[in-house]
Amino acid sequence: MDSSQFRAAAHSAIDQIIGYYDTIEDRRVLSGVEPGYLKNLLPDGPPVDGEVWAEIQKDIESKIIPGITHWQSPNFLAFFPANSSYPGILGELYSAAFTSANFNWLCSPAATELETIVLDWLCKLLNLPECYLSTSPNGGGGVIQGSASEAIVTVVVTARDRYLKMLSAGAKTAEEKEEIIDAHRHKLVALFSDQAHSSTQKGCQIAGVKHRSIKVPGSPTSNYSLTGPLLRQKLEELNEQGLEPFYLTLTLGTTSTCAVDNFAEIIEVLKAYPQIWVHVDAAYAGAALICEEFQHLTAGFENFDSFDMNMHKWLLTNFDCSCLYVKERKNLFDALSITPAYLRNPFTSSGRVTDYRDWQIPLGRRFRALKIWFVMRTYGVFGLQHHVRNIISIGEHFASLIKSRPDLFTIIVPPAFALTVFVVNTVNGGGAEERNKLTKTVYESINEEGKIFITSGVVDDIYMIRVIGASSKTRKEHLERAFGIIVEMAEKVRGEKE
Ligand code: PLP
Repeated sequence: MDSSQFRAAAHSAIDQIIGYYDTIEDRRVLSGVEPGYLKNLLPDGPPVDGEVWAEIQKDIESKIIPGITHWQSPNFLAFFPANSSYPGILGELYSAAFTSANFNWLCSPAATELETIVLDWLCKLLNLPECYLSTSPNGGGGVIQGSASEAIVTVVVTARDRYLKMLSAGAKTAEEKEEIIDAHRHKLVALFSDQAHSSTQKGCQIAGVKHRSIKVPGSPTSNYSLTGPLLRQKLEELNEQGLEPFYLTLTLGTTSTCAVDNFAEIIEVLKAYPQIWVHVDAAYAGAALICEEFQHLTAGFENFDSFDMNMHKWLLTNFDCSCLYVKERKNLFDALSITPAYLRNPFTSSGRVTDYRDWQIPLGRRFRALKIWFVMRTYGVFGLQHHVRNIISIGEHFASLIKSRPDLFTIIVPPAFALTVFVVNTVNGGGAEERNKLTKTVYESINEEGKIFITSGVVDDIYMIRVIGASSKTRKEHLERAFGIIVEMAEKVRGEKE
């Protein structure tokens, strides 16, 4: 493809993409294909002679789109969102155009420097304490990772090494150091509430450390949050078992119910455990921190070691864009930095530049800061705040609709960050098992119908339906339509309507 062919192809692709977005609402949100559908539509191998773009592009509509679940559709009310926006797409386009691996400052100074700048902007916007800024005297800073899970593996490994380094600091020889580390390694244990995302467990598996979850109770008035007393009890238990807690994930917006752990109580308890690395996983709900009314939630965050939120979930920045902040970047370097001869250069040696390879697991990295820059400049702070507040108000409207039908639905936890979690009531006050079965049938029938896409969850043996509409195209009317679909299906399954 030469440059004139690229120009024509790119124009045509952009037109198709705009057309896709303009009609996305009319498409069945959940792909209806059967597993293996694509194998039947494509040849056994690549073409021997190259094809023209027009031929390739035709297959997007006929072969690929049928297998797409439309995450950007306003009828996508599942999981957490993965926001896309035109400035975000432009960021991806330029990143692809420059295609550089960016592991060292020298690999593309703009990629590194823009990342530091926009992550400092975001740090202030989220009301994180100054200790997470790249300019902080303690040596903090932010780095873009691919996902919240990747951020967690990175900090679990870093926390493990910081802890072992602390224990072995007094060793006089390398052998003695190794002996101390060997004597403790098998006792290390990471902690998280049973509502924390599974990525912490995965991170611990990868890091080869023990992990324990702390069971947290819920009630109609309080969400499933980790509290100080529950944490203290678990720490005491571990102590009796001779285990050594070194890491804790706290969550701001759990996946099932958007619970926020009780940070103030936990900070008090942790005063007696300064060796524990505390990471705040705010993958989805962290976006709300850009609005003043949520900023009280970051009080005391200077007591924690790291924080992560995904701009790619709710802040209009295309996947992937997970923003990890650490209070002391030196800990990351201690755990992750290795400099073979082929990575040496005068700028790195001068200590005047940032090499983001030392802040992450992979070596190469994409130019992801561009899309943050484009998004922030296009929407401005007010535009981003408007998006978050609009989604929250639409979510509250949906929750009020669910509450208006107490005959059909019960809300299980207070709606939070635009997420509503509810169950379907049985007709004649049947037990928990019957209610679970009914809720599951309603949930599965709605997704089978495919007019909207929702997800479910199980917390405390309660089968729940989760609804969250947070794409850039979501409006009140979409949630009202969704409510109508859910009511109709609940009545049908309960035998009240044909
Ligand atoms: N943490 C929380 C609270 C989440 O809800 C999720 C996913 O939704 C994750 C972590 C994992 O996110 P990622 O897909 O970026 O790894």
